[in-house]
Amino acid sequence: MRFCGRYSFHLVLLAVSMLAALQRAAGESMPASSKSRGAKAWAIQWQPAKLVNGSPVIFQVAPPAQLTGLSAKWLEHDVFFTYDAASRSWYGIAGISLETHSGIYPLELKGTTSRGIEVSFARKFVIRPAKYPSVAVTVAKRYTEPSPEQLERIHQDKTVKQDVFRQTDPKREWLGKFRPPVDARVSDVFGTRRTFNGKVQSMHQGLDYAVPQGTPVSAANAGTVLLASPLYFEGNCVVLDHGQGLLTLYLHLSEIKVKVGERVESGQEIGLSGGTGRATGPHLHLAVRWEGVYLNPATLLTLKLP
Ligand SMILES: [Zn+2]
Repeated sequence: MRFCGRYSFHLVLLAVSMLAALQRAAGESMPASSKSRGAKAWAIQWQPAKLVNGSPVIFQVAPPAQLTGLSAKWLEHDVFFTYDAASRSWYGIAGISLETHSGIYPLELKGTTSRGIEVSFARKFVIRPAKYPSVAVTVAKRYTEPSPEQLERIHQDKTVKQDVFRQTDPKREWLGKFRPPVDARVSDVFGTRRTFNGKVQSMHQGLDYAVPQGTPVSAANAGTVLLASPLYFEGNCVVLDHGQGLLTLYLHLSEIKVKVGERVESGQEIGLSGGTGRATGPHLHLAVRWEGVYLNPATLLTLKLP
């Protein structure tokens, strides 16, 4: 009997999610809630409405029962959800790597009710290809053809960064909207395919702001300082952990004004802009990283968050 009940429950959920996926595939572009007749249905909303490779995503989930915890699998990553009492729903930040091919992918939710019963729900999402530009850039030769000593330094940095990226906190630290770290014009967008000195190719994995040397740089949201030191390519670099696997990185600073382990508030000054590391001149490079994946900071700044 119990098996039957669960089985039909899952069938209904499956039907609902398939219908929703079909609606999405049919070109429906607005965020929609998946609802079935009766009160006990999962409602899922997300931003941005159109999902592309390189985009961060916020999932807002209202489960059919009160839960003590909620997590999800998404593109082979774990999504950590935090309950928001005001909206009676769970919020989890996630992302789509630049390398993700367009297609239909599931968000597989798993929760535990206050009675200890495990509940699950899957919902499919359409991911479309993003359009990113390409440019040629000239930098000092030591950044495209580093010497053995410089290679050694780059290798050390890699270890430092790997250690730092491992220490992220699944608990939410961000609070409210992410805000731009400086008030300035964007000089290069995320995802630009760059050719350095006609040789080295790379994808621009951040957002560049045109700011002169010495401009105050502020934290995009509340978080904890994971790294505050000079690196070869990044120059003076600050990394903030906002929880749920989400980090923001501030590169090429002329001065760092925070220490590792320090808690920072949204908008707090963390350093001054500069042109240290592999930079063509003074500017601020803002990067957003979620569980090892670089995401479009411009999209993160548009999300409406609780
Ligand atoms: Zn940059």
